[in-house]
Amino acid sequence: MKLKLFFIPLVLLFTFFQLNAQSSKKRKPNFIVIYTDDLGYGDLGTYGNPVIKTPNLDRMAYEGQKWTNFYVASNVCTPSRAALMTGKLPVRIGMESYKRRVLFPDSKGGLPEAELTIAEILKMNNYQTALVGKWHLGHLKQFAPNNNGFDYYFGIPYSNDMDRKAGSTFEKLFTPEIEDFNVPLMRNNEIIERPANQNTITQRYTEESVDFIKRNKDKSFFLYLAHSMPHIPLFAGKNFKDKSIRGLYGDVIEELDWSVGQVMKTLKELHLDENTYVIFTSDNGPWKLFKEQGGSSGLLFGAKGTSYEGGMRVPFIVWAPSNIKPKVEMKMGSTLDILPTLCSLAKIEIPNQVKTDGYDLSPLMVQNKDVNPRNEMFFYHATDLFAARLGDYKLYYLKNNPIGYPEKIEKLEKPQLFNLSIDPSEQYDIASKNEKKVEEINELVRKHKAGMIPVKSNLED
Ligand code: MG
Repeated sequence: MKLKLFFIPLVLLFTFFQLNAQSSKKRKPNFIVIYTDDLGYGDLGTYGNPVIKTPNLDRMAYEGQKWTNFYVASNVCTPSRAALMTGKLPVRIGMESYKRRVLFPDSKGGLPEAELTIAEILKMNNYQTALVGKWHLGHLKQFAPNNNGFDYYFGIPYSNDMDRKAGSTFEKLFTPEIEDFNVPLMRNNEIIERPANQNTITQRYTEESVDFIKRNKDKSFFLYLAHSMPHIPLFAGKNFKDKSIRGLYGDVIEELDWSVGQVMKTLKELHLDENTYVIFTSDNGPWKLFKEQGGSSGLLFGAKGTSYEGGMRVPFIVWAPSNIKPKVEMKMGSTLDILPTLCSLAKIEIPNQVKTDGYDLSPLMVQNKDVNPRNEMFFYHATDLFAARLGDYKLYYLKNNPIGYPEKIEKLEKPQLFNLSIDPSEQYDIASKNEKKVEEINELVRKHKAGMIPVKSNLED
């Protein structure tokens, strides 16, 4: 009898947990996109960094998928984010410019209001949505996150090095203090702190993200966690400062890794790991202009601000332990593909007006089919197409200073061709021995350009 009395509540408890798990599985999946700023291809343990400790990201890659040929759609912040949000090449929607490569605190423009963001599409389908972190797609109210599909916003409106104190020098960026900048910290449309205390910013983004997940554990949600680090100026929290043998840059990455661990721990505790896709990536390559305070592109050539592999190929890890099989994926993908892929996973039809440049990666990522949804990539620098990749081959028409700054653009007399599987560091031009391949890519580019209608840039005013 005693045993029976003990047994009944146990059965009830078990049924409760089962029902709970089932109802979370029945809902549309949750999505978390962790977007770091200027983190390079070579900055994580799992991508070969020998000194920066990233145990949480390494585990995420081991339990999930590590993609090794994944690209952003631009080599600097604003256009890269525009592409992630809309699934469109930024040049198509006026989000690239030579005059001003990104938005600044005195800019009047932003992401065109007519564009639908991934947050807006998910929100239309009853998702709870939040941006925690850096926006950089227009700080005026009409362009702000709350006007672009995000129910909740906590973060900074543009880069953490902007709004500099008068008289601030380039050298001062290496030894930054909070007061050197006047970047506001926002909650929805209100400034809650100015200057933002960047020493605690990664920790506070993490706490805000964990709170958002907990608040929405019984609903479908989309969390865009866009860390402002490791963009210069670097700031690390007190638990991480002076800990990494890689110096301040290592401290910052190790704190980001901790942050990823907190998000994953929360998902596991709430059993949301069964129905959540977590993506970790970066908005562009490392800012090598800042030498040891900038990141590493590993074996890839080039940096932020260039169309070389180091400027646009980024780490991409996707984790969803109940829904995807672990693997190292060497096929191509891009942040352009995130909008169509998430819509496909959520069984949401993409609205007609969204003519995306992306592909649905889910057959490759989730169904494990031997397919190649993306077989080409276009490398824009501002409004010019510098290079194009088809399969393993990348053909260059224009080249830039490999550090990115100052800009030194060279129009190549003859296009240069590289086989990225054999030569990921882009050292050996093989164009003269592969004329057919050159012509094939030229043809791809001709077709691509025929479909590009020039539009007025939104970054210049
Ligand atoms: Mg960036």
